Amino acid sequence: MAKRIWNFNAGPATLPLAVLEQAKADLPNYNESGMAVMELSHRSKDYDAIHTRAREMFVELFEIPNNFKVLFLQGGASMQFAMVPMNLLKKSKTADYIVTGSWSKKALTEGKIIGNANVAGSSQETNFDRIPKQDELNLTSDAVYCHITSNNTIAGTQFQSFPDTGNVPIVADMSSDILSRKVNFSNVGIIYAGAQKNLGPSGLTVAIVREDLVEAGLDTIPTLLQYRTQADKDSLFNTPPTYAIYLFKLVLDWVKGLGGLDAVEKRNQEKGDLLYGLIDAMPDYYKGAVEKDSRSLMNVTFRLPTEELEAQFIKEGLAAGFGGLKGHRSVGGVRVSMYNALEPQGIKELTEFMKAFAQKNG
Ligand SMILES: *Cc1c(COP(=O)(O)O)cnc(C)c1O
Repeated sequence: MAKRIWNFNAGPATLPLAVLEQAKADLPNYNESGMAVMELSHRSKDYDAIHTRAREMFVELFEIPNNFKVLFLQGGASMQFAMVPMNLLKKSKTADYIVTGSWSKKALTEGKIIGNANVAGSSQETNFDRIPKQDELNLTSDAVYCHITSNNTIAGTQFQSFPDTGNVPIVADMSSDILSRKVNFSNVGIIYAGAQKNLGPSGLTVAIVREDLVEAGLDTIPTLLQYRTQADKDSLFNTPPTYAIYLFKLVLDWVKGLGGLDAVEKRNQEKGDLLYGLIDAMPDYYKGAVEKDSRSLMNVTFRLPTEELEAQFIKEGLAAGFGGLKGHRSVGGVRVSMYNALEPQGIKELTEFMKAFAQKNG
């Protein structure tokens, strides 16, 4: 590739060009420290400013209430599948899981290793093509939490809003839609996300944990796996992923420059309207893979009339400058991942390519 392509990879995913340019400019000598960010001590003043600013900006932009702790962790979202039940799922208690795709299944598997994990809803029967409706849920009234995957990166579905779980705190894996839209925190207990879709590079995992849950966490598990350990030390108990946090901060600067969460949400809706609009206008050629009322604004999945045409579409797409369009191996078809950083122009050009492709191969 002689130039940057429209990168529709599902994760790690495209980053704003402005972020990459800033990182490049800062690389050998950050803020006249005489060092690169990745060479700074995590106890230095320069690094501390990055760390603190990243946390503060995230709280501001994502409108996180002040009874939550923001933690910078490692181990990916997959580590949170285990850390959540290890901290919260006491022996005599139950945790609910709403299973809407491969990632929720993995979260459930870890929950079951630790304790009593109950499937309170599932769309597995129809191959995860939808989000279960509120009246289909079998919620446990005294569950310690109810786990959801807010956006299903592989299937291409998204909770349009969080379910009503009464007094039971929601634990949401928001790896692929964090900071893409406003969230109602009123019954949220924990939100966690691997950074590599909407927030920055891989290596950083963000967890937003309600203070009472930090405190209620079991202390019979290893120190580093307790939320309180990093909550007490502002995520500096041990060496954090400093360079990933620095890039996360640059992404937040970029989000702020766009106009904050309202602007991001509007931009994502516009991209969705454009792409789903085209799919709905050509229903004989492009078939959305999921139910309309469960559609994701982050990962758009669809099929073409044959698998041969899908392969040709992906191949010709790449030659035309559109990368990462292949659907996950477990579902096939085409997947367009269009996280915050994906410019609307990329979707505009993709829809033009899709129109032309359908006409040529109709
Ligand atoms: C990518 C992804 C994961 C896995 O994240 P890791 O950081 O690789 O562990 C988990 N859940 C969802 C919803 C994802 O999109």
